[in-house]
Amino acid sequence: MQAWVIGNWKQNPATQHAVNALVNDLKQTDRTCLAPSCRLMVAPSTIHIAGVSAQLQGSGILCAAQDISAHSASTGAYTGDISAAQAFDAGARWSILGHSERREYHQEDHETLVQKTQNALSEQLGVIFCIGESQQQYDDKQTLEVLSTQLDVIADVVRRLDDPTILSTQLIVAYEPVWAIGTGKVPTVDEVSATHTHIKHTLAGYHNALANTAVLYGGSVNAGNAADFAASRVIDGALVGGASLKAESFMTIAQAF
Ligand code: 13P
Repeated sequence: MQAWVIGNWKQNPATQHAVNALVNDLKQTDRTCLAPSCRLMVAPSTIHIAGVSAQLQGSGILCAAQDISAHSASTGAYTGDISAAQAFDAGARWSILGHSERREYHQEDHETLVQKTQNALSEQLGVIFCIGESQQQYDDKQTLEVLSTQLDVIADVVRRLDDPTILSTQLIVAYEPVWAIGTGKVPTVDEVSATHTHIKHTLAGYHNALANTAVLYGGSVNAGNAADFAASRVIDGALVGGASLKAESFMTIAQAF
């Protein structure tokens, strides 16, 4: 099974200079000790996608967009949007969709996410689909129910695709409990494993092609706790925020997988 370690840089770093420094550090760190099955990816801000993917050309580290437009046209009068086609042209090969920060600050709902997922797939952009429960939902033991509802987006996409088998190579799911993002709090490995088993079972029920979908954990993953998560058979990698902004901690996390 392939493992993925993906850095979500969010709205960082602040300057082009700092972006260049981070990319240089990533290229210079020794990657010979990574497991051959471990693949690396970074998701810079939209404005940095073209530069970062050009600099990472040939490094084996892929580039993802953090978002794409819900409008299906590759060009058009949508101020501020970038289309899947533009992201692909800039060098992105994947897109993070449904991140809890997009759901919260940009009111992204079910239909928006179905549209975005379809748009990405129609331009050969893979989708890293994020799901996760809030603190309240976790406390109320509603996690699995909430995740099933969020995964309905994928069920709808499967129904609408002419060829759902493309999802066997174009879909990654990231389980990110909202309460664990940027807080230093993490669920136990047993909790994450049970949740991932539920996610994998749900996806397999949608279509055979989804039976081997990689399911990553995200939320306060760092160089100190990555190995605990990596030891679980059903945790296929990590989606890393803060700790991905330093090449050294990002690579230590990658080595764990
Ligand atoms: P942190 O690793 O900073 O908690 O962020 C996780 C995340 O939101 C990745 O998408």
